[in-house]
Amino acid sequence: MMTLYEERDVTMSNVNPGLERRLATELGEMKENGVHKELLHIMGRQGPVVDIDGLGETINMCSNNYLGLCDEPSVIEAVKEGADKYGAGTSSVRFICGTFDIHSELEAKIADFLETPASLTYTSAWNANEGLFAPLLGPEDALISDRLNHACIIDGIRLCKARRVIYDHMDMDSLREALESSREARHRLVITDGIFSMEGEIAPLPEIRELCDRYDAIMAVDDSHATGVLGDTGRGTPEHWGMHGEVDIVTSTLGKALGGMAGGFTASSDAVIDYLTQASRTQLFTNALPCHSAAGALAAIDHLEEHPELVAKLRDNTEYYREGLIELGYKPIPGGTPIVPVIVGRTADAIRLSRELLREGVFVIGFGYPVVPRGEARIRCQLSAAHEREHIDAALAALKKVGRRLQLI
Ligand SMILES: *Cc1c(COP(=O)(O)O)cnc(C)c1O
Repeated sequence: MMTLYEERDVTMSNVNPGLERRLATELGEMKENGVHKELLHIMGRQGPVVDIDGLGETINMCSNNYLGLCDEPSVIEAVKEGADKYGAGTSSVRFICGTFDIHSELEAKIADFLETPASLTYTSAWNANEGLFAPLLGPEDALISDRLNHACIIDGIRLCKARRVIYDHMDMDSLREALESSREARHRLVITDGIFSMEGEIAPLPEIRELCDRYDAIMAVDDSHATGVLGDTGRGTPEHWGMHGEVDIVTSTLGKALGGMAGGFTASSDAVIDYLTQASRTQLFTNALPCHSAAGALAAIDHLEEHPELVAKLRDNTEYYREGLIELGYKPIPGGTPIVPVIVGRTADAIRLSRELLREGVFVIGFGYPVVPRGEARIRCQLSAAHEREHIDAALAALKKVGRRLQLI
């Protein structure tokens, strides 16, 4: 292969002149508009403090490592043991020779944890959502989705032939109208994020359940930001609302609070899970979850069950941080999740604030239009149970210094 390239003297920058020119123009525009993403390199473990290439030790306020389990010794040990026992990879999709005993063990554990009859793992929550709708629904059905649902739900919906009805974000009148307009459908399925990641809002599951019952609709929740985070024992938005086992289909990730590795799952009835095993394309045509990730996720759930105080610590940290921000004169969006967005207004201010914070040793990311509405540019802070008060105090001190300098507070 190497000699082939050398002989032809072809470099990857010459894929196709027309394509190269167009991409170069668009990338240039992104850079001019300040929306070109520059990737920072972390040179060790994901923890409350990370070592960033060129910047050094930085307090991490933008990770999904909500419980600190990325860095938990029992989880890391389980991953190592998983690799020792099962080797590097699965080398197959589930239905050929990619199903290992540890998959079934993890799936039983997830089902037990969420109080659903069964569950099925995927290599990501993206795949779980993308492969969910098309197998279950056809042209005679209706798929009803919150306007601000996650990108993978939107893509999953695009792959499904059911009639699409989008309701206004967390607006129950709009959802009722959507259900009313879908009365003739064979099935109606309502899907919502459990926590919306840009605002940190919690979806109103009791009201959605009531409407689903009234219109005989299937209720599905993508709980990726809430699993391990909400409820007294981290069982997510259903636990937060006292609705254990009352959501028909739950999808979530193993890549956030539960150890931060790769992997996702769908949890539901035996029939739904068996049907997905038969017909979900992101299950049938892509490799099974690596066994070491399954082993790590199992250890993460075990650890969470043994240490529910991590969830309480996460909540305490979040409250402490919110109060500190308000005292400084910032305006965090109110809410009860560890996602704490701080609105600063203009996109340029959000970007400047996050850059200056990085220089002061605090890692947060600024989001502007079009990711969030115009005039509502923000930095999005995320708390972790791995943060100690000293980390949070240092982050607040940096926010005070930089916020005053930029005249934001
Ligand atoms: C993070 C996230 C996902 C994607 O999770 P992966 O396992 O990384 O694919 C899907 N849905 C929602 C709501 C998320 O927040």
